[in-house]
Amino acid sequence: MSFENLGLVPGLLRAVAEKGYDTPTAIQLRAIPAMLTGGDVLASAQTGTGKTASFVLPLLQKLEAPRGRAPRALVLTPTRELAAQVGECAREYGRHTGLRIQVIFGGVGMQPQIDGLKSGCDLLVATPGRLLDLEEQGVLDLDHVAAFVLDEADRMLDMGFIHAIKRVLRLLPERRQNAMFSATYSDDIRALAARLLREPVAIDVAPRNTVAERIEHIAYKLPKEHKRHLLAQLIKDGDWHQVLVFTRTKHGANRLAEQLEGAGIRSAAIHGNKSQSARVRALADFKANRITALVATDVASRGLDIKELPHVVNYELPNVPEDYVHRIGRTARAGATGHAVSLVGPDEGGLLRDIEKVLKRAVPYAAPPPFEITASAPPPPRPAQPAPRRDARPRPQGQGQRHGASHGNGHGQRQSHGRGQGHGQRWSQGRKVGR
Ligand code: AMP
Repeated sequence: MSFENLGLVPGLLRAVAEKGYDTPTAIQLRAIPAMLTGGDVLASAQTGTGKTASFVLPLLQKLEAPRGRAPRALVLTPTRELAAQVGECAREYGRHTGLRIQVIFGGVGMQPQIDGLKSGCDLLVATPGRLLDLEEQGVLDLDHVAAFVLDEADRMLDMGFIHAIKRVLRLLPERRQNAMFSATYSDDIRALAARLLREPVAIDVAPRNTVAERIEHIAYKLPKEHKRHLLAQLIKDGDWHQVLVFTRTKHGANRLAEQLEGAGIRSAAIHGNKSQSARVRALADFKANRITALVATDVASRGLDIKELPHVVNYELPNVPEDYVHRIGRTARAGATGHAVSLVGPDEGGLLRDIEKVLKRAVPYAAPPPFEITASAPPPPRPAQPAPRRDARPRPQGQGQRHGASHGNGHGQRQSHGRGQGHGQRWSQGRKVGR
């Protein structure tokens, strides 16, 4: 089956071919024709399955050509990163249509967005807060929205957007087409679907609440304070060039990024307290391989589309098991293979079991490979310009030395930790063991 068979118009087919897509993905095969018929759609699809094109292409087709000033199609996303990405995709797919695509989200100045809306908009991609702000100010008219897509609905609810969504729905015309995309299904999601959709076509391309089989999952059990050392070793020994690391807290993300920098691994943190420009810069540096490790919280990571991201590390397991699905959705996108590593502290075994229940599969424990406990060096000052890769530089004095040490004496010393020791491990005296 090709894109030609899906009933798309030549301008869109051309843009898709220019993107280099040969065949539609499973969600595209089913959602594009369903949306083109004008009915409501409920799709269960993880990020990475090509879901964005599966709703953006039919929306663009239905919009046909620029008309009026107010948006006629609206896509609501939970985060600004996702909004920006959906907007970017829509501009690429719509490049031969002349349609005007505007993106609005919080955390940046309003005026350029207001100017964009005033200049005319056919498809609007927005996060709920800023959308409501602009509507209240009277600069956004939602009376002409004939198609509405709620993207990553599960994350919307996790982020507490239910009231905002209800307010947005009240602002839309009664008669419209609706589509809802969600990676996971809870009772709340089902309730929202029942409220939003009329006799929807249900599309389920992945078994519910499971993750792509092509991802290799592995868990290492180890004391919390050793996690960063194992992580640094995995990155260095595995020659990982791009790894997305998840922490539970913003503070934890900052601290770990600094610690990894101290270990000679170029890193940046991305979370909700960072300015939009800092987040965009960190993501651009990561995509361009100027940094190796991007340390993120769940909320900040939502919607990141990094092509062929090979490694995802759960530095801390998420409290909500479904977040594991979202986290590893960052890897193995559109057919690539990926590798998801979980570092499981003594108090996190229960969280892993909950995750296994949601996945309906085991995440096997493996013995950690040998790793060394290194002295914490203060992170070097960040250069104003991109600097050469730190791991190409000589080690600071004092690092790289090995001391015999006893368990628990991790500061200012270098210890080794061997394969198969798990918790309550034995410490080697100044040498790596286990290989
Ligand atoms: P999404 O699930 O929409 O975030 O898409 C994941 C990735 O798959 C993005 O990098 C898309 O550019 C890419 N993609 C979407 N559709 C296709 C396709 N039919 N063939 C190859 N790659 C695709």
